[in-house]
Amino acid sequence: MNLVLLGPPGAGKGTQAKRLASRFGIPQVSTGDILRQAVKDGTELGKQAGPIMASGKLVPDDLVMSIVRDRLLQPDAAKGFILDGFPRTIPQAEKLDHALATHKKKLDAVVSLEVPIETLVERISGRRSCPRDGSVYHIVQNPPRREGFCDLCGASLVQREDDKPESVRTRMQAYEASTSPLKEFYTRKGLLRPVDGVGAPEAIEAAVVGALKPREATSGA
Ligand code: AMP
Repeated sequence: MNLVLLGPPGAGKGTQAKRLASRFGIPQVSTGDILRQAVKDGTELGKQAGPIMASGKLVPDDLVMSIVRDRLLQPDAAKGFILDGFPRTIPQAEKLDHALATHKKKLDAVVSLEVPIETLVERISGRRSCPRDGSVYHIVQNPPRREGFCDLCGASLVQREDDKPESVRTRMQAYEASTSPLKEFYTRKGLLRPVDGVGAPEAIEAAVVGALKPREATSGA
């Protein structure tokens, strides 16, 4: 199953991508996570992307495309993948189609997580993450057992640089201007599956799985 998770910052793409990855036994491919790792490792890619990411703007398509091409060629992505945070622009989506077609693959569905703006702001402002293992918490909805520390590895939790208010505003604008047109793009291809992204993570996961089912059944008929 080749899936894309689409949605504004704070929609829960990462949370759902992790759940679906473990449910279906296919990897989560998060361009944001790969870029953050590159920044942390101080690679050439990280040096180029870091300041752009901190400001909340989108990293140039070419940089992101090369990451995705390499990642999708890894053996664990042969059975399928869940793209989280990619594509984010129409040119990225077109290049993705092209890259998949080269390997005789295609997308099966694009899940769009629908969340009202007030909820997004609340989720982002309370989000804290573990710089060591990537676990994500929310200070109210999903607090760690010991305030400020990761349940899994004990590291001090941090707020993502781009989760601070000014960057969040830029990210929302980037979403509206560059990413939301993808809904129309994928609707035309018959791939879009809008899902209500408000509620408990388990309930949203169930709704996503439900949204994937009917067409799976008919596509084989
Ligand atoms: P995310 O973790 O998906 O919110 O991504 C964090 C930041 O990484 C974004 O605000 C962008 O600066 C950059 N980024 C991640 N994915 C992409 C992408 N597909 N295209 C451009 N920039 C991206």
